[in-house]
Amino acid sequence: VNIIARRNAPQNHGLVVRWFFVIVVLWGWSGLAHATSGEAHVPDPCDRAATGAEGGIRENTGQRKRPNVLLIGIETLRADHVGCLGYKKDTTPTFDQLAKEGVLCTRTMSTSGWTLPSVMSVMTSLYPSVHRVQTYQNRLSGEINTLAEILKAAGYATFGVISNPTIEGQYGFSQGFDLYDDFTVSLDFGMDVFGNNDKIIGDRHLSRSSELVTTTAVKWLQRKPAEPFFMFTFYFDPHYDYIPPAPFDTMFDPNYEGHIDGRGINDEPRRSTRPSDRDLQHLLALYDGEIRYTDGYVAQLLETMAQLGLLENTLVVLFGDHGDEFYEHGKTSHARTLYNEIVHVPLILRWPGRLPAGKRIEAVASLVDIAPTVLDYITVSYEGPMQGISLRPLIEGQMERSRDTVWAELSNGLHAQALIGGARKLLRGPGNDAWEFYDLQNDPGEHTNLYDQPSAAEARAALMAEWERWAQDNQQLSDRLAKGKEAETIEPSEQQLQQLKALGYVQ
Ligand SMILES: [Zn+2]
Repeated sequence: VNIIARRNAPQNHGLVVRWFFVIVVLWGWSGLAHATSGEAHVPDPCDRAATGAEGGIRENTGQRKRPNVLLIGIETLRADHVGCLGYKKDTTPTFDQLAKEGVLCTRTMSTSGWTLPSVMSVMTSLYPSVHRVQTYQNRLSGEINTLAEILKAAGYATFGVISNPTIEGQYGFSQGFDLYDDFTVSLDFGMDVFGNNDKIIGDRHLSRSSELVTTTAVKWLQRKPAEPFFMFTFYFDPHYDYIPPAPFDTMFDPNYEGHIDGRGINDEPRRSTRPSDRDLQHLLALYDGEIRYTDGYVAQLLETMAQLGLLENTLVVLFGDHGDEFYEHGKTSHARTLYNEIVHVPLILRWPGRLPAGKRIEAVASLVDIAPTVLDYITVSYEGPMQGISLRPLIEGQMERSRDTVWAELSNGLHAQALIGGARKLLRGPGNDAWEFYDLQNDPGEHTNLYDQPSAAEARAALMAEWERWAQDNQQLSDRLAKGKEAETIEPSEQQLQQLKALGYVQ
């Protein structure tokens, strides 16, 4: 039962990482907040809480020592490629071990189809049209408190280290963090995996950053931060392009002799041209290799926490931000649809002695449930708006099901919404004109649209009524939080635009 016993992390000491490690050391862990954009990303959350942001943050006093909270985000992690969720390949030994020692929510849905809105939903417990950070031009309103701000106000030291340009501090992700380390994002375009740092890599996600995320997190832990602390680590490597290092490049398909590789995933015509079954199998094996590679660095982080005596009193929460398409609906990559290969993600919680070991929650859940669940377990009350619910009653067996449906939406140039229940799903878009209705029990791949089928009329009408409620609730809450103001906008720098363009998020 020991998460620390495993040491399956790869040894990748490329020049890239070393070079940045030197920079990191030179910075000296002075505790100064810094970020790539050069802005100070350290708003004072206490001021914010005190000056009337929506919903006061209130700390319960007189409690026993609060646990630390470690929030681990894994980029582009499909639920059906995770071992404890039924995948037959050994892609996620560490995540599986976490689930064995804790709680696995088997039907958790992302709130969107790409990183920026879905991770913001994790941080705010609001759906994308409510937190309104839906494009690279939006910044979170200062009126909305993030999980980091709430924990900061409750006395937590707060630290984040991330490696994806779409969740840089400038969008509001750094709100509430003492230090939000988003400099690892510059790895992507400053150099490639071979250590060539003399040119800007103008195409895709070619570098690797998991080692640096773990190294950075470990350094912070070794400085003995005040407890309790909240640490957010976000691992980027499973994102396309799929170019895992050895031995992960051949681990899941050692006998392949074809020519397909994991590059150019978001390029046409490749994006829309399904390869042969054999080649597709190899593409999936490369994606799996990236997942396994990343899993190893999460293992290293957990191992260090255990060695430092920090793991036992830490509530660990691991989630995937969204999945990826492999031609299930015609294309590759993500940010385009809300089918289950995109929205179904893993969610695992572990806190020995407080959370049951090996528990599986089958009720439908959402990434918006993370913040209320964390606050419930660590007994911090928050009166501001949250659209998620605490999963604690489900985890403790007080109820089987707490709600019938969850919501997801895309608004990044394409518009799509989805209402997802235990057995049925209603979809609209992209384009807002085409409705789809699926029976997830008999058609989990969402290939037979029953929207116009008379036999499905009753079930569809019930879900449609629910849809109206969701749409209304989202609109009302969005209006209340916005108070008539436009979403706060920012202008990304030229470099940031290039990064987002290379990832396929900006045309
Ligand atoms: Zn993502």
